[in-house]
Amino acid sequence: MSNTDTPIHQVLIVGAGFSGLGTALRLQQNGVDDVVILERAADIGGTWRDNTYPGAACDIPSNLYSFSFAQNPRWTRSYAGSDEIRDYIHWLAEEYDLRRLVRFNRSVTGLSYDDASGVWTATTEEGDTVRARSAVMAQGPLSNPSFPNIPGLERFQGKTIHSADWDHDYDFEGKAVGVIGTGASGVQIVPELAKQAKKLRVFQRTPCWILPRLDFRKPDWQKAVFRKLPAAQSAVRNGLFLAHESIATGIIWDTPVNGALETLAKAHLRHQVKDKWLRRQLTPDFKLGCKRVLMSSDFYPALQKDNTELITWPIASISENGVRTGEGIEHQFDCLVFATGFSVPNSGTPFPVYGLNGRELGQEWRRGAQAYKSINVSGYPNLFMIFGPNSGPGHNSALVYIESQIEYIVKGVTTLRSLGIKALDVKDDVQATHNRRLQKRLAKTNWNSGCKSWYLTEDGYNATMYPGFASQYARQMKHLELRDYRLLSGSGAPQ
Ligand code: NAP
Repeated sequence: MSNTDTPIHQVLIVGAGFSGLGTALRLQQNGVDDVVILERAADIGGTWRDNTYPGAACDIPSNLYSFSFAQNPRWTRSYAGSDEIRDYIHWLAEEYDLRRLVRFNRSVTGLSYDDASGVWTATTEEGDTVRARSAVMAQGPLSNPSFPNIPGLERFQGKTIHSADWDHDYDFEGKAVGVIGTGASGVQIVPELAKQAKKLRVFQRTPCWILPRLDFRKPDWQKAVFRKLPAAQSAVRNGLFLAHESIATGIIWDTPVNGALETLAKAHLRHQVKDKWLRRQLTPDFKLGCKRVLMSSDFYPALQKDNTELITWPIASISENGVRTGEGIEHQFDCLVFATGFSVPNSGTPFPVYGLNGRELGQEWRRGAQAYKSINVSGYPNLFMIFGPNSGPGHNSALVYIESQIEYIVKGVTTLRSLGIKALDVKDDVQATHNRRLQKRLAKTNWNSGCKSWYLTEDGYNATMYPGFASQYARQMKHLELRDYRLLSGSGAPQ
């Protein structure tokens, strides 16, 4: 089929994770049914489809880590494991009949906008062309596993596993295992591997602040109440939301609450680790909040098991047999586990995106990404992003942010239809003012206080986090102000 014969849909969405499916769901509920979702994998679920490592769970309470418009009374734990979250996503897809919109095994290679028709075209590795009036990039920021740049990595002869691509057939029983990375994934994996491996060595480059995680089984009566009285679940959700909002004052900014959280984290460490030297190795030297604050009550105990040891010497290289550290020791392993995070495109795009007059977003973002309210970029009409620049939460549920972005997209798409216009393009000066203010506010946050994290580009530009409360973020997304946009009319493709 030639390009001009390809049907023009109302909306094309890249990615069938929480964001893509949630957008499709809310669009349908608002009368926009002509939606196509392009998904590179063979199943839905995004990061929760991929992150199935032992111990994978969410460190935000389940009642808050779900959509408010599709609550789940069935959560079995205060903090759900990845399998339950995956089940919830699958339930969403069945309940709202979303799978029929998804084209699986379609890896998007580019998005381009045609000025004359006002139509976006997505191309895929498999040779498809999909056209639509609006495009939504919902591919997720944490979708491409990152292996560290350690000399000799390719020489290792044993088994290698990345946290985001787990091999469930590999048997750790009786094996010598090295784990590289002690971030959010690492602290969840280590306690599980410590139960199975014969010898476990954990390579830590930077210790993180860790708060206790109060995980418990939810009583059956609570599930019954939530099923019968959804308002009760909403009330609990609101309570959890407010509790997390109040913690923002200590995570985002350097306030007395920040000091109190550091004291709590140190008390947690002192309570769980009696050995002074180990405690010193596990004590961060940066402000709490600068890197992601971790939640774990079983990481420190796992490190002190007889079969486990924390290694803080820097890794010099990887050899055929294992890991060589700075002091010249070779640690030999059957398996190396990489809990080393993701390649985050905060100074580029995951695939080329061409806007008005052929401009290319990756080029414009090469020194750091920026957008208007994290969702639109000037020169790229009718293009919406979920988890675009500066929408990252540091203290509250990602789902709260995703939800307000989804509602904004629904407003954008339905406004196009009701005004009968070709496109909405955010004004350049509005975007510039928005970003000047954001960066000014970011300069005062803990994220920009000097540590190294995936929130910042190599030269320290923060293109990732939102410098405020989740409620502030949601408030700014409540209204789509037409005066902030150029309304492009003309003989575009029919809607
Ligand atoms: P991450 O936070 O980027 O942590 C990567 C770890 O690998 C860090 O400890 C890092 O050390 C280490 N590392 C990287 N390169 C290294 C090298 N060359 N040598 C030694 N160590 C190296 O990745 P992640 O733990 O997968 O988490 C990523 C994000 O996923 C989180 O921030 C969070 O947003 C999300 N996540 C969420 C949950 C949840 O419960 N909600 C769970 C897992 C993940 P340095 O710190 O020194 O760089």
